[in-house]
Amino acid sequence: MLRLQNISKQYEDKVVLENINLDIQAGEIVSLLGPSGSGKSTLLHIILGLTTMDSGKILFANKDLSDVSMKDRGFNIVFQDYALFPNLTAYENIVYGLRNRKGLVTKEELQEYIEFLGLEPHLTKKIGELSGGQKQRVSIARTLVMKPKILLLDEPLSALDGVIKESIKQRIQSIAKEFNLTTIIVTHDPEEALTMSDKILIINEGTIAQYGTPQQIINQPSNEFVESFILKQLHIKRQNIYDLFSEKYA
Ligand code: ADP
Ligand code: MG
Repeated sequence: MLRLQNISKQYEDKVVLENINLDIQAGEIVSLLGPSGSGKSTLLHIILGLTTMDSGKILFANKDLSDVSMKDRGFNIVFQDYALFPNLTAYENIVYGLRNRKGLVTKEELQEYIEFLGLEPHLTKKIGELSGGQKQRVSIARTLVMKPKILLLDEPLSALDGVIKESIKQRIQSIAKEFNLTTIIVTHDPEEALTMSDKILIINEGTIAQYGTPQQIINQPSNEFVESFILKQLHIKRQNIYDLFSEKYA
């Protein structure tokens, strides 16, 4: 459904992405996983249409979107820093993008997203009065009301921890499944990627280290980088995650 072909991007003399190919099916959750500076956000912004690529193609439902504007692509993003308007209420933030897009969502749909994200009690609060997890939910609601054809999230869990992190993670998963929404999540955390996604694209210094299911990555890492970045970290830190996917422990 979404197909990236040979995407490359360079900033001055620094190659940030080199020949990225990727196929994503409708309704899938795909993580872009890699260390800081590996090119994940750049790739997400290229898919969104915010950043131009130097070469390559983006196809969606067999249409070439490479030269289509961000607005006309119809994908929407939850930015890493939330990018909410601090002087507006939660509700005003949620509906902000709809002001020139009447009829995009029905009242019932809007209500459904608000309830799904548990935001009813917070609607009249200013952004400064919300916790990190609540801000993240407002930010997700604001993106969902735009009825994105693909939902893009940049490090949605990195500012959260503990129970809140787990709860946002589950909400993102249920949104993708409930609304059959194709979802691409950027993360630098192997544990997040392994527990949230149908497929994981591992990026190292702008190139693809491996693309596969969590099981494939755990059981058949394609190279040294995957082995050390993913497996050793997990094996040492979180034996339980390793157990979840490893055939050795099945
Ligand atoms: P990640 O999200 O994986 O941490 P990024 O995609 O943000 O990585 O960045 C990849 C590389 O591209 C980094 O070296 C970063 O400094 C560089 N980069 C990103 N955006 C720009 C830009 N607008 N101008 C110059 N270099 C950039
Ligand atoms: Mg980034």
